[in-house]
Amino acid sequence: MSDGRIPRDGLRERFWETVPLKRMTVAEWEALCDGCGKCCLNKLEDEETGEVALTNVACRLLDGDSCLCSQYPIRHQFVPECITLKLQNLDSHMYWMPQSCAYRLLHEGRPLYDWHPLISGDPESVHKAGVSVRGMTVPEFEVDDDEWEDHIIEEPL
Ligand code: SF4
Ligand code: SF4
Repeated sequence: MSDGRIPRDGLRERFWETVPLKRMTVAEWEALCDGCGKCCLNKLEDEETGEVALTNVACRLLDGDSCLCSQYPIRHQFVPECITLKLQNLDSHMYWMPQSCAYRLLHEGRPLYDWHPLISGDPESVHKAGVSVRGMTVPEFEVDDDEWEDHIIEEPL
């Protein structure tokens, strides 16, 4: 959900362990994103059961290698429906957020994983841990809507 260089310098030390989500600065909030790219995959939602299935069909702006948005600051010009995750809407998005998403983990009172770049100090650690979507996506402009069911995947964890 962020650009190619998620800024993680100059933040309060281990703020994610001591500062509640509602008291984080904008920079701290943005730095929580681990860069996994999983929230940028299209989902299929069963209208009757509410079940959500993840696909490997990625938003047209996702860079499948870096797993980051290629136009993050101006993404709404191209993808107006892209969600801006905020404290106020976090709860309503929990049902589809990836299991390992840092926003989800903190919202649920759980710790971040050791592979989170905030902890490892290395943006590559999320990929090395195998929890990102690197190399597994296809862009949505290459897949017809009625073929998404053939692209359902399990969340990489
Ligand atoms: S799922 Fe969460 S941690 Fe992963 S890219 Fe999206 S917002 Fe960032
Ligand atoms: S525009 Fe697409 S790639 Fe960019 S953050 Fe939104 S869902 Fe992700």
